[in-house]
Amino acid sequence: MGKAVVGATVVCAAVVCAGAALYVRHRMRSSGKWARAMAILNEFEEKCGTPISKLQLVADAMTVEMHAGLASEGGSKLKMLISYVDNLPTGDEEGLFYALDLGGTNFRVLRIQLGGKEGRVVKQEFEEVSIPPHLMTGTSDELFDYIAEALAKFVATESEDFHLPPGRQKELGFTFSFPVRQMSIASGNLLKWTKGFSIEDAVGQDIVGELTRAMERKGLDMRVTALVNDTIGTLAGGRYYNNDVIAAVILGTGTNAAYVERAHAIPKWHGLLPKSGDMVINMEWGNFRSSHLPLTEYDQELDAETLNVGEQKFEKMISGMYLGEIVRRVLHKMAEEAAFFGDVIPPKLQIPFVLRTPHMSAMHHDTSPDLKVVGSKLKDILEISNTSLKTRKKVVELCDIVATRAARLSAAGILGILKKLGKDKVRDGEKQKSAIAMDGGLYEHYSKFSSCMESTLKELLGEEVSKSIAIEHSNDGSGIGAALLAASHSQYLEVEES
Ligand code: ADP
Ligand code: MG
Repeated sequence: MGKAVVGATVVCAAVVCAGAALYVRHRMRSSGKWARAMAILNEFEEKCGTPISKLQLVADAMTVEMHAGLASEGGSKLKMLISYVDNLPTGDEEGLFYALDLGGTNFRVLRIQLGGKEGRVVKQEFEEVSIPPHLMTGTSDELFDYIAEALAKFVATESEDFHLPPGRQKELGFTFSFPVRQMSIASGNLLKWTKGFSIEDAVGQDIVGELTRAMERKGLDMRVTALVNDTIGTLAGGRYYNNDVIAAVILGTGTNAAYVERAHAIPKWHGLLPKSGDMVINMEWGNFRSSHLPLTEYDQELDAETLNVGEQKFEKMISGMYLGEIVRRVLHKMAEEAAFFGDVIPPKLQIPFVLRTPHMSAMHHDTSPDLKVVGSKLKDILEISNTSLKTRKKVVELCDIVATRAARLSAAGILGILKKLGKDKVRDGEKQKSAIAMDGGLYEHYSKFSSCMESTLKELLGEEVSKSIAIEHSNDGSGIGAALLAASHSQYLEVEES
């Protein structure tokens, strides 16, 4: 820095000898620019710091907010929604069950034949159907008629391998990943549409009622026995295979977590205590916030330009929708203020969300000696060509800063849940293991992210406690999990038990 100031003085003094001055100025400028770019990067890195002491504070804040959200409706930024799921699959489930997974531009229908502890999943089949765009903004009846018709067709193509005991009604678990105020395990009012859907006459309606009436119109005799979201589906899918699963975390486009709470530890629950004594809580943890979160100016600016300003602050620091965009914002600042990519700011770099997290991940994982992948991503996506190895290395460093912060904060969030459940310490004589079911494209495909998250959780828990906590990938919980929940909340269950 000192050198650059001296240099500038020299340049001013040498104004009479224009040609030479210009050359000196240019040389000074380019080394000064690099230093300025590095200063921006270093400052960002410093602000993103997540030492263990800070992560402990974040975890404690998560635990405190969990308590507050359970105490009263609106008591915290964490909604801590009661899911009405009080029975998770045990593995004993038997029979034929269906699931419908609706949460984006495609929906999936699935059937599964369960054979109890011995037979497990005897057979499963699914079909994916895309939703024509005009149905995403039409009427509720049009959308649900379309879905019910696809479901009826799917049922009509059933082979002999799938069979329902005579006289029984078909049962379906419905994964509906939009904001819903649930009234019971099988009913819930749609609060609002997201992800490009806008069907006004469905808002405020019981979404299970809408589907059920459409199935009736199509002559399909099927009953929705569980309405859940993808996080709860993942929890159920994880629990089916491993009885130690106590929580599920989704790290995909967005992020969320759900876990099994003791019903008596939910002050805002005024209903009868469920027989199992348990209640699954949908945390909606993407909306978590805390003064201990290492927020930077880039996070603030990103937030200010989103549709949901001030909301989902945790999600905006850790989930797949945003990580690439944070990288873009820092690169943009380096280009704008320090000519990191030359004298002109690359026009593509100015477009929000052009740099997506899978691109960032590909650059971050580049192991070629000349960082070929980084070079080609910069060229293909941002139209920045001929980058030097030195520049590429810094881009990788930036990806690492953003991904590391996200992974370590995710680990702190998980520690918060374990703390709430008293599972962050080894108690005398207690050998009970716990497992966390994980799913989502970010967790699944961004291996530097997931390995950092897992090693950070180990670091936070210490060696001994770590041995009792497993992190598992629960593949496609949201589909199979809903069918399993349809089974564990079957209308025929009580009859069988008595
Ligand atoms: P959704 O969360 O939309 O239900 P997924 O769980 O499949 O869907 O997650 C998709 C998200 O995962 C993408 O939006 C992206 O952010 C992230 N993702 C997908 N592939 C990769 C990848 N190779 N590297 C990093 N992130 C990825
Ligand atoms: Mg998903």
